[in-house]
Amino acid sequence: MKFGGTSMAGTERIRRVARIVQRQQAAGHEVAVVVSAMAGETDRLVNFCREADPLYDPAEYDVVVASGEQVTSGLLAMHLQALGCKARSWLGWQVPIKTDDAHAKARIEDIDAEALMASMASGEIAVIPGFQGISPAGRITTLGRGGSDTSAVAVAAAVKADRCDIYTDVDGVYTTDPRIVAKARKLKNVTYEEMLELASVGSKVLQTRSVSLAMKEGVRVQVLSSFIDDDAPAADTIPGTMIVSDDELARIQEGLDMERQLITGIAADKNEAKITLTRIADRPGAVAAIFGPLAAANINVDMIIQNIAKDRGETDVTFTVPISDLARTQSLLEERKDTIGYYRMLANSKVAKISVVGVGMRSHAGVAATMFRALADRGINIQAITTSEIKVSVLIDEDETELAVRVLHTAYEMDGE
Ligand code: ADP
Ligand code: ASP
Ligand code: MG
Repeated sequence: MKFGGTSMAGTERIRRVARIVQRQQAAGHEVAVVVSAMAGETDRLVNFCREADPLYDPAEYDVVVASGEQVTSGLLAMHLQALGCKARSWLGWQVPIKTDDAHAKARIEDIDAEALMASMASGEIAVIPGFQGISPAGRITTLGRGGSDTSAVAVAAAVKADRCDIYTDVDGVYTTDPRIVAKARKLKNVTYEEMLELASVGSKVLQTRSVSLAMKEGVRVQVLSSFIDDDAPAADTIPGTMIVSDDELARIQEGLDMERQLITGIAADKNEAKITLTRIADRPGAVAAIFGPLAAANINVDMIIQNIAKDRGETDVTFTVPISDLARTQSLLEERKDTIGYYRMLANSKVAKISVVGVGMRSHAGVAATMFRALADRGINIQAITTSEIKVSVLIDEDETELAVRVLHTAYEMDGE
């Protein structure tokens, strides 16, 4: 069971979480619980680091920001004990949750779950702070923002859990962020691939890495709400959204005799910036000279478009990078202005990427055309496009984000009551 920041924000909420956990144990389960820091706490701690030194040491950043989860894990163990349950906290190094040494964005390499499982088998509830691990050098690491989801899936895989229930402040995965579109519909099932695409293009309901890990390890993941009454249906009845495999989905749909919706979800991401380099020589090696150095600097380039200007043998190249990497990207390209041989560099961080995702796209044409038409009808200009087998993304002006998501939700006939 994993509980996010909003679910853990304050005594009353932690008490409710303790009751939800107690009910699962009473239903006959052995339980491990992964918790987030209280809502807002990690942001607060990150700010302290920035104030200390804008170019802070990532290893010390991890020491600071991992503390929020230490607090909530101890508090939840106390609340469980107060209800008469046996419970204890297990900090990352105590489990241990071993990661690499990429501080602030570490990857879990291995979880030695033996002691944890022995404790759980004895009837003790294990409470584990999410987001944190231990590096090969024995230092505290954190897994990147939203990383408690990944902690939960990794623990579930390590203890071979029947299910990993991710409790949050919405009661499942919706066709789009229900806080933006009131007519968003809750999905009973989403495939791993769809969830992976949705997470990677900006649906923050699950951290991307948690989904890829669940897919790789075959962990059964449910997203559900912790804001429930004591007599709400139990998690075992699957009140939330199940992440399922393609095969499982096919079986479910056969049973219901229904057609898969063309589009499963829509996501928006305002965290990208657009860069255009003008008048680059149209010859082999030109784009390699741009993207080689960016890759070497660990900067993730997402959308790329190159326009061929046949007349002059020159071309413009446009691409996107995360806003957090924009300054570094600009300085890298500025340094290489002569080697790359561009005329001007234009940057714009007031853009948003809107993506529609669905496995139904594999067998249906016209998904992209519907998107372009719907946006055009509202006068929304498209600045860049990328597609994958189950996704179409467009880059638009940031101010038009909410409008675009609503318009597309209607265009694909996804609106609920
Ligand atoms: P937690 O603190 O529990 O980890 P998050 O804030 O990280 O919670 O994620 C839950 C939020 O994700 C919701 O409040 C919702 O606004 C947002 N969200 C974005 N896209 C979706 C979606 N397609 N379905 C459900 N929630 C979504
Ligand atoms: N507390 C961390 C964050 O806010 C990890 C998490 O909640 O998943 O990013
Ligand atoms: Mg989260």
